[in-house]
Amino acid sequence: RPNYRELFVGLEAFVPQAKGESAPAINFDNAATTPPFNKVMHEINQFAPFYSSIHRGTGYKSILSSQVYENARKVVLSFVGGLSDQNTVIFVKNTTEAINKLAYRLWNPRKKEVVLTTWMEHHSNLLPWRNKFQVDYVELNEQGGLNLEDLERKLQHYQGTVKLVTVSGASNVTGIMNPIHHIAEIAHRYQAKILVDAAQLAPHAAIDMRPNSSPEHIDFLAFSAHKMYAPFGIGALIGPMQVFEQGNPEHSGGGTVQFVTKDRVIWDDPPHKEEAGTPNILGIVALVAAIETLNKIGMKTVFKQEERLLHYTQKKLEKMPGIKLYTSLTASPRIGVIPFNIVGMHHEQVAQALSWKGRIAVRNGCFCAQPYVQKLLRISDREMEKVINNPLLPRPGIVRVSFGLYNTIEEVDQMLAVLQEIAGSDRTRMKFLSISEKQV
Ligand code: PMP
Repeated sequence: RPNYRELFVGLEAFVPQAKGESAPAINFDNAATTPPFNKVMHEINQFAPFYSSIHRGTGYKSILSSQVYENARKVVLSFVGGLSDQNTVIFVKNTTEAINKLAYRLWNPRKKEVVLTTWMEHHSNLLPWRNKFQVDYVELNEQGGLNLEDLERKLQHYQGTVKLVTVSGASNVTGIMNPIHHIAEIAHRYQAKILVDAAQLAPHAAIDMRPNSSPEHIDFLAFSAHKMYAPFGIGALIGPMQVFEQGNPEHSGGGTVQFVTKDRVIWDDPPHKEEAGTPNILGIVALVAAIETLNKIGMKTVFKQEERLLHYTQKKLEKMPGIKLYTSLTASPRIGVIPFNIVGMHHEQVAQALSWKGRIAVRNGCFCAQPYVQKLLRISDREMEKVINNPLLPRPGIVRVSFGLYNTIEEVDQMLAVLQEIAGSDRTRMKFLSISEKQV
């Protein structure tokens, strides 16, 4: 089995080591952000002396930077199976910016159009739509996945006025992978377009947007580099060129125009029109290096490696007394994300106990997907109101383990040992309750 850990820098440097201990820290919070590949850091260092402003100079460095930047669009498009004569790649700082940009682009203030999102979305795929469109939500099934009958029912209900169906490729809470091509086919039958929020999909599974001639093609796709082993500050929005051709961009400024006079602005063509300000060339170098590394391993291999960790961990947790899981392995294909709680312990205490006892980083809370977590925890709107209005009530939430390519079964075993200890007996559970209460 290949050692993927060798591909990374800084795996041992996530948190300061506990006093007197030398074992490395374990990071199971890859859905939030991932460490960089060695190659990413190497390429950034190599390119740093040469970076320059894109499309703004005749000097060697500027020409080189511009070439690297434009070539990156091809690399991104090929990574997601998009066609260059049908799509444009707009570089943004992250998925959130990409979705806000698209929401602005598709918005017609004179019309009240419908965007159909789902109950399982990250806030970044909810809030940008809520303030511009009439928004409705596709219901969940028993396993926390999407109810596709409800999708179809809602599309019928709105009788062709749904402009967009927007859905995560994989959930950052449950890891559930949505059947995006099936959803696309349904949406297209009702003349709606589809956006896939691929923030969690792009790092963990192969993506194929497919040609527009296919009824199952993906119209728009968004992702962030910092969840796929490159640093922060760069991401992409991919979609049909013509959508960005008309009208004004949301942000204007340097790099967006062909001509400006006192009274007139002639916008440049997309994607340049949508990329106001000096572009993040080092981010692009990093993103390309990350994609090249993932391509070399192969996204199918990446998926399989993480699926192995997912199955191993979930099966062990299913057998552990005191653990409550929020989805199963039979629900649908999943990326390596496991949401759980320990019965009788607050999610914050579990996360803290893993950190103190095992130097294991997980995430707890609502993961910027509060409506989804509320549904998974079966909390009514009335109960939620009480929590909102009373700061003394504990905030509901879940503990989340999320794997990256470099995590190992040995690391999982270390986490399971800590969980066993804290979930194992009521006495230990009570001990931990009182420890964390004192800390608070
Ligand atoms: N969508 C999903 C599914 C996510 O997991 C995240 C990040 N947690 C986002 C969108 C937003 O990504 P970013 O913060 O990089 O904009």
